[in-house]
Amino acid sequence: MRLTRLTALEILDSRGVPTLEVLLEAEKLQARASVPSGKSTGKNEALELRDGDTGRYRGKGMQKAIASVEGEITSMLVGRELPPQEDLDQALIRLDGTPGKTRLGANALLGVSIAAARLRALAEGKTLYASLGGPEATLLPVPCFNVLNGGAHADNPLEFQEFMLAPAGRPSFAEALRAGAETYHALAGILKRGNLSVSVGDEGGFAPQITFPEEALDLIVQAIEAAGYAPGKDIFIALDPAASGFFREGLYRFGGEAHTAEAMTERYGRWLDRYPLLSIEDGLAEDDDAGWAHLTKTLGHRMQIVGDDNFVSDPRRVEAAIEKGIANAVLLKPNQIGTVTEITETARTAQRGGYRCMVSHRSGETTDDFIADLAVALGMGQIKSGAPARGERLAKYNRLLRIERELGDRAVFAGRAIFDRQV
Ligand code: PGA
Ligand code: ZN
Repeated sequence: MRLTRLTALEILDSRGVPTLEVLLEAEKLQARASVPSGKSTGKNEALELRDGDTGRYRGKGMQKAIASVEGEITSMLVGRELPPQEDLDQALIRLDGTPGKTRLGANALLGVSIAAARLRALAEGKTLYASLGGPEATLLPVPCFNVLNGGAHADNPLEFQEFMLAPAGRPSFAEALRAGAETYHALAGILKRGNLSVSVGDEGGFAPQITFPEEALDLIVQAIEAAGYAPGKDIFIALDPAASGFFREGLYRFGGEAHTAEAMTERYGRWLDRYPLLSIEDGLAEDDDAGWAHLTKTLGHRMQIVGDDNFVSDPRRVEAAIEKGIANAVLLKPNQIGTVTEITETARTAQRGGYRCMVSHRSGETTDDFIADLAVALGMGQIKSGAPARGERLAKYNRLLRIERELGDRAVFAGRAIFDRQV
């Protein structure tokens, strides 16, 4: 299949900020991809190339990334046959030539990489997850719904970023989605009755004026019960404190308190006794390796401990973490690393080391549903895509409903077992 045209467009994401959409065309086929964007980013993420021209979109324009796609990448690809995904991604990485994809931009590379994966699937007459993952790609992920927002994603006093419902005790993805949505609405009712705001943060979760994480955890347990589900049986809780955001001068600071890493670990341990907690991501700051090792050693046998800001979906960082005994799971965000091949390598590196993986959206999203197919293709068994509300979040969950329907009897929903997998 010969590639005939490659173009890029500056579109807006769910926050009204420019992002990149790529269109790749072959003779009779075309495939589109758009790129998400984070706000509470790890400092070692691959570069999201923006214009820096403050006269347009406050410096966040995509003209440079468009030039990468329509200039050098077009010259390399158009007029040639569509290469296998790995060859294409390696060629993109070589063309950029920098470790952090700073020359052409990881956003430019990822847009092309995903569009190429979609185009190949179309040419093969397969759905994207089947094209990427083969016939074994039948595992639907447990969805983690971010229903209470704080930190960089909301302007309430709550420093902890994400409080998620993980309906891992439900029998299918569709039932897990239903449980998430029903609990989300029950939570809205509880907030309203408590005169708390139901305005939402960037990922669709409510952002009430609360300060302490325990208040959020109590509200969530109440909501699960009010929706008619059993906390710790039907629905569990997953957290992403995004602790780099409240780590200053060596201490974790929230609600007027300041804690050492050891004190944070103790607090998380107490929550494990009190709440149906299944997973905690970025419970400590990205550079606090000693704290992470202590947290993993102390609580890693009782819960999933996920690295995001510290690993930035980079296989080399995951490899190093496995050696140091840091965390026992990895968050997978394709735009942190920049190509489909590399995110796959990160997942495989994690699995080889006995680490679990959760596929993730970004706080700035589009309606592109690539991560839904990616989660099934990689067989990771976990995904987070925000609240069960707002179109850009639902695009992924609704795509997973379609995949579950399409797989029919072959669809597997492992539920709680995914989090129990021995590490
Ligand atoms: P981000 O946040 O997309 O704003 O980086 C998501 C996360 O921290 O997991
Ligand atoms: Zn995170």
